[in-house]
Amino acid sequence: MKLICKLCNLDVSKEVLELKDLNLLNRNDRQDYIPEGFYIVHDDDNFIPRHKGTIIINIKDLINSNYHSDERRLNGCCGYDGCDGMNRVCKCNHEIGTECSDCWMPHYIALNPDLVKFI
Ligand SMILES: [Zn+2]
Repeated sequence: MKLICKLCNLDVSKEVLELKDLNLLNRNDRQDYIPEGFYIVHDDDNFIPRHKGTIIINIKDLINSNYHSDERRLNGCCGYDGCDGMNRVCKCNHEIGTECSDCWMPHYIALNPDLVKFI
């Protein structure tokens, strides 16, 4: 499966499979939260509740995407903290989700299920 932008149908992820073994999720700071090639629908009240319900993928699996044109969305220390709303758009500038890649968090992309879909 892969994910596309609902508005323009552009691919925004590489091929990804649902991660069944949740023990492979890694909550260490500065490391990939989810292995490449997989996704999960985030359903954990104890981990970043603001992203509950989003589709989480590895940053390396995001394609055809740019950073948001609104610089207020791009805060972070040495990466992007994703605390100010969606910071990632598709190549056509449609908002798709949030990159979390700062030094004090595990790294991942949280895609908004209202804005992307699986094909
Ligand atoms: Zn789009």
